[in-house]
Amino acid sequence: MSQPTYDRLVTHLERLGLGRVKDILPEVLKDAEQSADGHAAVLDRLLEEEIAAREERRIKASLRLAGLPFMRTLDTFDFAFQPSLDRAQILDLASLAFLARKQNILLLGPPGVGKTHLAVALAICACQNGASVYFTTLDNMIRGLAAADRVGKLDAKLRTYTTKSQLLVVDEVGYLPLTRAEANYLFQVVSSRYERSSVILTSNKSVTEWPEVFGDHAIATAILDRLLHHSTVLSIKGNSYRLRERAIAATRSPEPQPVPAA
Ligand code: ADP
Ligand code: MG
Repeated sequence: MSQPTYDRLVTHLERLGLGRVKDILPEVLKDAEQSADGHAAVLDRLLEEEIAAREERRIKASLRLAGLPFMRTLDTFDFAFQPSLDRAQILDLASLAFLARKQNILLLGPPGVGKTHLAVALAICACQNGASVYFTTLDNMIRGLAAADRVGKLDAKLRTYTTKSQLLVVDEVGYLPLTRAEANYLFQVVSSRYERSSVILTSNKSVTEWPEVFGDHAIATAILDRLLHHSTVLSIKGNSYRLRERAIAATRSPEPQPVPAA
């Protein structure tokens, strides 16, 4: 190929935004010279690489928008440590049928048993499959909504937690008790998403304790009613992984013993 033709080709690729094709073009053209593959095979390789690069960019952007607190996947989840969890059931959830059916997942259990890890892992699966995801702690969501409400912008802020994402993760429900007005914000989010889009919610409290957390029996019941109607509830009964890690660290480097006084 003559240099002017090549230069024109590069300009076309730039104008079309085919950055990956542009980057790999010299290498692919060189390979093509030495191979018996036809033009169609060359075009196929170039376009496949462009699509893969775009997919990777889309997933990265989606993960950034999701605001996950850390990146943990199911591959690094030690199911042997948490026998109350059914591995097959979790892997089935990772197929994301719940998302298509607009169902919810409640991850319940004491601190350190992997609730946030599992919620994040499922959120990553959703991002990888093209879903929009938003992660928040309950505390952050309530504070954000209350602040918007004070300046008359509640409706706009509610959309952050309702229509803007196909999957909303609400982490750490139950750590702090809510006032009636605060519980009402959660009710608005949950009822707006009901049968429209999925919620994954984690809590250290069993659902029977929710009326106490929400300070209002009627609101707690109304929230639970909608959340539980189409849902998978995973109650994790086990030990804290954090404490296990600390115990392992302690056996590796024992605390220095005080030197007895002479
Ligand atoms: P929770 O939200 O239930 O309090 P986390 O999901 O934050 O607990 O887990 C605490 C830490 O322990 C995280 O770093 C998490 O990745 C890790 N962890 C918890 N359970 C497991 C597990 N079964 N296998 C691997 N890592 C785990
Ligand atoms: Mg957590």
